[in-house]
Amino acid sequence: MSWKLIEKARSFLKEEQGTIRKDFGGKTSVALIYPNTYYIGMSNLGFQNIYYLFNSFSDVVCERSFLPNEEDLIEHNRTSTPLFSLESQKPIKEFDIIAFSISFESDFLNLLKILNLSRIKFKTKERNLSDPLIIAGGIAPTSNPEPIAEFVDLFVMGEAEEVLEIFLKNYKSAKTEANNKEDFLGYFDSAKEVYIPSFLEVSYNKDGTVKKFRNKKERKKNVIIGRVNDLNSTETVSRILTSNTEFSNMYLVEVARGCSRCCKFCLIGNLSGEGRYRNANNLLFSIENGLRLTKKIGLLGSSISDHPEFDFLCKSLIGKEIIPSISSIRFEGLKDPLLELLTEKGQNSLTLAPEGGSERIRTLIGKPLKEETILDKAQYAVARGILNLKLYFLVGLPGERWDDIEAIVDLVKKIKHRMVEEAKERARLGKITSSISSFIPKPFTPFQWHSMEEVARLNEKLTFLRKSLRSVSNISVTTDVPKWSYVQAMLSRGDRRVSEVLLKTLDNNGNWYKSFRELNINPDFYNYRDREEEELFPWDFINNGFSKDSLLLKYRITKKEISA
Ligand code: SF4
Repeated sequence: MSWKLIEKARSFLKEEQGTIRKDFGGKTSVALIYPNTYYIGMSNLGFQNIYYLFNSFSDVVCERSFLPNEEDLIEHNRTSTPLFSLESQKPIKEFDIIAFSISFESDFLNLLKILNLSRIKFKTKERNLSDPLIIAGGIAPTSNPEPIAEFVDLFVMGEAEEVLEIFLKNYKSAKTEANNKEDFLGYFDSAKEVYIPSFLEVSYNKDGTVKKFRNKKERKKNVIIGRVNDLNSTETVSRILTSNTEFSNMYLVEVARGCSRCCKFCLIGNLSGEGRYRNANNLLFSIENGLRLTKKIGLLGSSISDHPEFDFLCKSLIGKEIIPSISSIRFEGLKDPLLELLTEKGQNSLTLAPEGGSERIRTLIGKPLKEETILDKAQYAVARGILNLKLYFLVGLPGERWDDIEAIVDLVKKIKHRMVEEAKERARLGKITSSISSFIPKPFTPFQWHSMEEVARLNEKLTFLRKSLRSVSNISVTTDVPKWSYVQAMLSRGDRRVSEVLLKTLDNNGNWYKSFRELNINPDFYNYRDREEEELFPWDFINNGFSKDSLLLKYRITKKEISA
């Protein structure tokens, strides 16, 4: 064991408020892993929530672990130190259960790095009862677990709150009664939210598309995505405060899950179900608890400004000693008392997402915002003291034309013009940061049939936008790298055969394109193909509560609108 690495773990712990410490004696031990660095993992409220939920069982001890940064990876390798948990520095391999919380497909490769560093065999079929049980959850594998299905023993799909108790009970029974791995996994199969990849056989057509799924156990019709119906029965807040996160000692309070607007491109709106909200009084109670620890309070959730008591919530916070941060505000939600709350506390920046530059493209993607609404709301926010705006846009959207790209430039300039008008009154001009990303069609959305735009064309569009916007004063622009979006699209929409690409890329030190060449795999198959209406998708055995037909209907309507 490297003392340097142990000291590093202890230095993280020293900075934390709220670390849970338990002894191991006779308890089920869980190593909860975020497959990225401590800084990124501890910024994730879902990860903190699962840590708390596991530890709320008296017969469970849950400790955390993360992907070491580059420097620490070198130290692990130099000293042959296996990955260990943060709290007790116990090797990961010695835990009963290893639970991965995965928010982004781009972290799938890190799952393999972590198994490698923990000296655990990669594939579920290579491991036996003496190995820890490897489980995974989080929005990335819930929308499509197949690219990592060969590596994970079982997935907990969707929200975990209501399934953990039965999962842990099944684990105890399996541990004492099962004779072999298949028998062991069989103990979990009755839970609807549990997906066991080795129990599902997938066959393929000659053209490479999925032919059919066969459930080897015949007990389960399909897997469903777990959802907490009444969010008021749970409280999701920061459990550990530390300066080593993106939110630095901010107490996060989850306000909502899901979204009723179902914009056609959005995974959250389509996967997580209708908007569910915690009562304002419950939220105020959580906020009061947070204020005992810190003044920095962050309200999180999709489309928070749709909360039915949002105005009451904001009014209740005005006048309190609090530094608020509020995510996911829609343009229509830019009004008082929200703006009064933010500016009273000195906040002068906001993030907003027009997504598309023209009304035409916004309507096509199901976010039909009028340009006048965007301009009026942006101007009003500036007039109330929000000087800086961060604006999110997507390129490569279905039905997009070149004039929709030019419209992004026009819209940003028009917003700036409105800011300049306001600045005359205030003698201070703020900044606009435009953040532009390549669109990836996601599973479970109406665009799951649609192809991704080719990388060369995305580069052309992004280059145009950078050139057009960077020359304008007080406007900056950041864009993603389409060749990495292409990899992400494969991980998002791929099937089980992508697992070989992941293994090869681990061997190739992260060089995806070398792996494609060596395996003779062409991800164009996953990315650039408009899919047939009747095609079976790798994630079609999962039931998210909406019918595939209803998504197809929306896609057909969009295609008609595009060709009109
Ligand atoms: S983009 Fe925003 S408003 Fe639209 S579905 Fe997603 S979370 Fe809801």
